Amino acid sequence: MNSEQQIFLRDKALDYFLRYVQINTQSDPDSLSFPSSSCQLELGKLIVQDLHKLGIANAELDDFGYVYAVLQASPDCRSGQLSFIAHMDTSPSEPGGSVLPVIHRSYQGGSISFTDDPNMKLTPADSPELLKFVGEDIITASGKTLLGADDKAGIAAIMAAVELLVTYPELQHPELRLVFTPDEEVGQGTDHIDLQRLAPVAYTIDGGELGELEAECFDAWSLSVTLTGRNVHPGSAKNIMVNAAAIAARFFAALPEWETPEHTEKREGFYHLTAIKGDEVKAELHFIIRDFEEANNLKRLEVIGKLKEFFLAKYPGLGIELESRHSYQNMRLVLDKYPQVVEKAAQAMRDCGIDVLPGAVRGGTDGARLCFMGIPTPNIFSGGVMFHSELEWIPVVALQKAAEVVVRLAELYCS
Ligand SMILES: [Zn+2]
Repeated sequence: MNSEQQIFLRDKALDYFLRYVQINTQSDPDSLSFPSSSCQLELGKLIVQDLHKLGIANAELDDFGYVYAVLQASPDCRSGQLSFIAHMDTSPSEPGGSVLPVIHRSYQGGSISFTDDPNMKLTPADSPELLKFVGEDIITASGKTLLGADDKAGIAAIMAAVELLVTYPELQHPELRLVFTPDEEVGQGTDHIDLQRLAPVAYTIDGGELGELEAECFDAWSLSVTLTGRNVHPGSAKNIMVNAAAIAARFFAALPEWETPEHTEKREGFYHLTAIKGDEVKAELHFIIRDFEEANNLKRLEVIGKLKEFFLAKYPGLGIELESRHSYQNMRLVLDKYPQVVEKAAQAMRDCGIDVLPGAVRGGTDGARLCFMGIPTPNIFSGGVMFHSELEWIPVVALQKAAEVVVRLAELYCS
């Protein structure tokens, strides 16, 4: 790739990014429809239009809100197919409508201010990665919304790469099967995916800062604990009342408080109480349980099982029901069988002059589910930092580099 092509990727990726982030695509965890919010279809339509303009007439948006497109292989590259995947929705955790992207030119260190919220500051103390990008252009939102680099940066990188491949037909690539998914943030990004339209190997462009390459994610469980008690007038409750809500609070308090999201990092796992509700008669605790090792999560489930026995013995008359569900597994279990798939991504990054930051996603990705559906899918950086927050930011150079990696990776699959 020459410097003219690098500048092309930078300009195009930035252009796609700035347009796409301004379309609200917040997914809705409470929705029963698919996609969970119809606004996501607006971005899907725009991406299809953009792909049609690039001459990819087969690009289409299906009824579930997935965009599929196939870019034919370059003439001298007949070796199989490759998929690139990014998600269109943004997190429901912060406002995602009316996003106004702001480019802070030539960042000089120090804090970045937000036009729509003078009290808000983005500083290297919040986000030490900033100091790696002194002199670079940084994009943030305006202070009232998230930015949506998660994962519109991934979409923009893929679109810029495709535009480059279409514009410079001498660049080698296999058949590229592109998929843009809805509802990743609400854990349903692959629920209605058509596997027939994917390649046998895929990459999600949905990681964090420039250089991240992830072949591991959490092993994930959800768990609900339902306690049933016995109610009676509090004035005559002695030796009769069994207060389910009060006991639920003690049940939660009996778990190790250091094994929670707010006290863990890197490869540490946790119990996370996502909801607690109830009264004297019935109370519910809802947890998600996460770790990189399934065995550690099974131990956490065992702890909960033993607590149940202890509480039943301690509080006669109490009832406890446990219901657990294995939500997704660590994709390493699959990717360990395809080391070349991960290595090719690392090679592409090195070839683009990027220091590879191997890591483990403290969450899940569409790719994690795809791995267990038969398609090995590691996760490559999109370049954004502080996802799901109003402080979310991305350096423009990361958009360019993600697009370069897509182009180089495609080329590596031709040799
Ligand atoms: Zn994402």
